[in-house]
Amino acid sequence: MEITNTVFGQISEYNHEQVVFCNDPETGLKAIIAIHNTVLGPAAGGTRMWAYANEADALRDVLRLSRGMTFKNAISGLNIGGGKAVIIGDARKDKSEGLFRSFGKFVQNLNGKYITAEDVGVGTQDMEYIAMETKYVAGKPKSLGGSGDPSPVTAYGVYVGMKAAAKKVYGSDSLAGKRIAVQGVGHVGEHIVAHLAKEGAKIFISDIYEDILKNVATKYGAEVVDKDKIYDLDVDIYAPCALGATINDDTLSRLKCKIIAGAANNQLKDEKIHGDACLAKGIAYVPDFLINAGGIMNVYCEISMPVYNQERAYEQAEKIYQYTENIFQVAEKEKINTQEAAMRIAMQRINQMAKIKATY
Ligand code: NAD
Repeated sequence: MEITNTVFGQISEYNHEQVVFCNDPETGLKAIIAIHNTVLGPAAGGTRMWAYANEADALRDVLRLSRGMTFKNAISGLNIGGGKAVIIGDARKDKSEGLFRSFGKFVQNLNGKYITAEDVGVGTQDMEYIAMETKYVAGKPKSLGGSGDPSPVTAYGVYVGMKAAAKKVYGSDSLAGKRIAVQGVGHVGEHIVAHLAKEGAKIFISDIYEDILKNVATKYGAEVVDKDKIYDLDVDIYAPCALGATINDDTLSRLKCKIIAGAANNQLKDEKIHGDACLAKGIAYVPDFLINAGGIMNVYCEISMPVYNQERAYEQAEKIYQYTENIFQVAEKEKINTQEAAMRIAMQRINQMAKIKATY
């Protein structure tokens, strides 16, 4: 989706309720909190720390990510709305206690309208600092009564979604012998590789950090490939687990896979154009906000239950298998791409719940 260049133009186009710019020169904090939709409940979604090339990129990212959270939370049957935050900075160089506590204070000032959690570049220690300033934080360390790192549950959800896609395409959900390219082997990517290795898939991995690649390749017997050549591999499944927009005109002309199923958010550069292009190319694309919902399901177990229960989180993530099958069915029946099918199902739930909530 193309968006206009003014700040309000972008906020209106995506239909956000509120966007908060956080600036603290003392700690160097520059952050943006985007609240997209709170019909189902308080906006919930992680905080990403990234060295954006410019502020416009950071704004675009947080607007897209928070909108994705609205769809993700809705389609997963959770009673929370969509929100997300980005901190502008290099996660390997710019972190400090002050920066995260300052950010926590901004979250607290929203009085529960936004609940934050982890995302790329933000770890459990950082969440602990945020939690010192606000109670509206989930994904706290387990030792603090939280649900801890959500990545294992996210990875499990991606794994079962991938299996459901394999069932659709190959008639069997076994991934044994399947050639699978995992792009980005960070928190989620590594756990996905672990599931795939256990099932006997042939795994190819790429990352931008040599140390991470070496570790994962050695542990799971995966083959390292050049980060720019991953799209040219002869594989059955491409699993984007790094950043967004990797499904675009260039990569679609190179990809040979039959399935795209990975953890990254906003995988389609343009939802309509590249969702349709996957359909036309016969690629079964599992919408990102559906397949990577395990993390928020895990966080939701922390928010919505008196005591976090990991078993419940995995039970919920397991449902991604059925949700994926459902998306394929609706897409086929309505003759639309899978992204559109998933968005329709999510919006249907939001609209229905809005009506139900409107009466006492
Ligand atoms: P992470 O930062 O731990 O891992 C991302 C990895 O991708 C890193 O190792 C990084 O070096 C690598 N990378 C960056 N650019 C790359 C490139 N061009 N090519 C190859 N590798 C590259 O993050 P994560 O927590 O594993 O999340 C991965 C993705 O999944 C993100 O898009 C995130 O938003 C999404 N996601 C994560 C969760 C979760 O539970 N952590 C939940 C939902 C969605």
